[in-house]
Amino acid sequence: MVDPRWITFIIVLPCLVGVLDASAGDADPLYRDCVRECETTGCVRERCFTNCKFLLNGSSIDGPWYMQEPLFLHWRQWDCQSDCRYHCMVEREKERAAVNQGPVKYHGKWPFRRLYGFQEPVSVAFSALNLAMHFHGWLSFFILLHYKLPLKQDKQPYYDFTGLWHIYALLSMNSWFWSAVFHSRDVVLTERLDYSSAVALLGYSLILAILRSFNVRDEAGRVMVAAPLLAFITTHILYLNNYKMDYGWNMQVCVVMAVTQLVVWAVWAGVTHHPSRWKLWIVVVGGGLAMLLEIYDFPPYKGYVDAHALWHATTVPLTFIWWSFIRDDAEFRTSNLIKKVK
Ligand SMILES: [Zn+2]
Repeated sequence: MVDPRWITFIIVLPCLVGVLDASAGDADPLYRDCVRECETTGCVRERCFTNCKFLLNGSSIDGPWYMQEPLFLHWRQWDCQSDCRYHCMVEREKERAAVNQGPVKYHGKWPFRRLYGFQEPVSVAFSALNLAMHFHGWLSFFILLHYKLPLKQDKQPYYDFTGLWHIYALLSMNSWFWSAVFHSRDVVLTERLDYSSAVALLGYSLILAILRSFNVRDEAGRVMVAAPLLAFITTHILYLNNYKMDYGWNMQVCVVMAVTQLVVWAVWAGVTHHPSRWKLWIVVVGGGLAMLLEIYDFPPYKGYVDAHALWHATTVPLTFIWWSFIRDDAEFRTSNLIKKVK
């Protein structure tokens, strides 16, 4: 069934992006000097930033209580850093363009142009669209189970993976929400939330892949599969947030989890007689092609559309087909289970 691939890629992506943290752009001494100066003066050339000024002139000391909250101060610090990096990058890129040099990456990212304060507007839009697709898929799944298919005497659906897909929907929507936030403004907090959500979704979809493909239906079996994986995912997220944001290690973890679920789904797709296998194959092929976009990592066209944004675009139709597969699975299993009962 399904699609492990794109789930996989959804997740591997932020992981991969993270690995490239040190880049040519931010290694440039001119850029570094600019950022250092900006963080001490609050200005790049004639442009000055309120959040930097706020930190520099110490006005937080006599501000209202909420402005003295550690999180709020952190936010200002991060936003000051983000503004300094952005405007120093813009200045450096102008200078590079003037001598016919192509764009380079800064802190693992291409030089994007902000639009209404959004750092990567196209990726934000597609993240929001993915979120909407998951919501639509989840809603139609819910309606199918509770209003269209027959229910058991206790009013519960026959489909024995219902709860697991509900959790999957919530984790997916959570992940796309933070993806949209992260692409809006890349600061420490948004990065952590995006990475943590992505790891949680990837880990959970691995559990789901195993439970569904091996048709694990009893509680004890499900706990035996889920417990060690949940323990590992939780530890990994805590490690990233509280000990070290280790991009290389995180990528290894993501790749192993992604490849494992990929193999699980692929083998299952090969042996099952599921009537909607073709949907799985579409998602598989689509996911594979989408992955090429991530490998062929070109700089943003006109400062807006890069490979990563297009990759987020491709997951929109894949999400639609994926949920369609999940609904088919619910229908297929429900009719099988009813036949068995009779
Ligand atoms: Zn992204």
